[in-house]
Amino acid sequence: MTMIPAFDDILRKQDLSREEIKVLLAAEGDEKERLLRRGLAVKLQHLDNYVHLRGLIEFGNVCEKNCFYCGLRSGNERVERYCLSDEEVLDCARLAHELGYGSVALQSGERCDAAFIDRIERLVREIKKIDNGSLGITLSLGEQTEETYRRWFEAGAHRYLLRIESSNEELYYKIHPKNSLHDFRHRVECLEILKRTGYQTGTGVMVGLPFQTLDHLAADLLFFKQMDVAMVGLGPYIPHPDTPLYKFKDLIPSAAERMDLTLKMIAILRLLMPEINMVAATANQTVDPQGREKAISAGANVIMPNLTPGEYRESYFIYPDKACVHDTPDQCQSCLDIRLAAIGHKILYNAWGDSLAFTKKAGV
Ligand code: SAH
Ligand code: SF4
Repeated sequence: MTMIPAFDDILRKQDLSREEIKVLLAAEGDEKERLLRRGLAVKLQHLDNYVHLRGLIEFGNVCEKNCFYCGLRSGNERVERYCLSDEEVLDCARLAHELGYGSVALQSGERCDAAFIDRIERLVREIKKIDNGSLGITLSLGEQTEETYRRWFEAGAHRYLLRIESSNEELYYKIHPKNSLHDFRHRVECLEILKRTGYQTGTGVMVGLPFQTLDHLAADLLFFKQMDVAMVGLGPYIPHPDTPLYKFKDLIPSAAERMDLTLKMIAILRLLMPEINMVAATANQTVDPQGREKAISAGANVIMPNLTPGEYRESYFIYPDKACVHDTPDQCQSCLDIRLAAIGHKILYNAWGDSLAFTKKAGV
């Protein structure tokens, strides 16, 4: 039997075993605080106290998929579908530039039709024209073919977020229908394709899903490391009443426990992968008003303020009670500056804020 080192000895390690990660994930009280402080210390040592912003543009909620947890699933007839016009998307991008955000992230439901693919290519090219390519572009548009990923990359997108949702195949099929549209192996393959296309590739999982164990979460962290991704987005699962998974809501940990688990995941991942970009997801703030700051203080270094025009935000109803749905971008920015200063961090304006893990490897 292998011996598991004492808690504080585990905290000083960088290569953690699955069993050691589980010890950290189970930490409570003073041990939990020591873990979160260690996550922060490792981040400050490698990345300083800068936070990068991505202006989030949720430009459409039409989705071909039927994920069991998400309000945008095609089977949900209770959501009003919308799609921003090209001009509206470009206005959001211009606003991001004016606010000094440095990057935008385009996110939507998953569509693979030719009109959609052409449109994204065109929009990416148009966004790149703003102030001679000064905005970095992250896409989060689901699973696509290698050719599509390449076209969007060549148009100027350079980061892509595709959460694996769970790296455990069995759990994956408990939260997705098992069919050709929702194929675990294909999702992993897409991450490989994104990496070889040249994107800074990001993935992530929801924390606190029904049927999810600490063993699954430990394996998720090792999956991120094994995939050698440049970015990770982790957030608590939030039950949505108009989805099939909602009926298991009594099986999941409380909101406070899901938040705590997310913070521990962030801190442990920072030990495992000190130089990646890690997003403090909006879902954190939905379960806890201080959630985003807590995520930054545990090791995250990216925030995605919402730039979607107010009238559409409530229709991008991935999960209930989304934070900041009523804030204007100006309010959001001054609020963020103040909130981050209060925890000793500062926003790095007018920069792309690329993943150090990626740029070092690429020799940039
Ligand atoms: N369609 C794209 C991008 C939009 S969904 C895709 O699926 O990749 C973006 C993320 O929202 C998903 O990756 C998922 O992790 C998260 N999400 C969906 N439903 C959620 C819920 N009920 N609680 C928390 N996060 C959720
Ligand atoms: Fe569609 Fe993404 Fe929601 Fe799945 S998670 S239903 S792909 S928007």
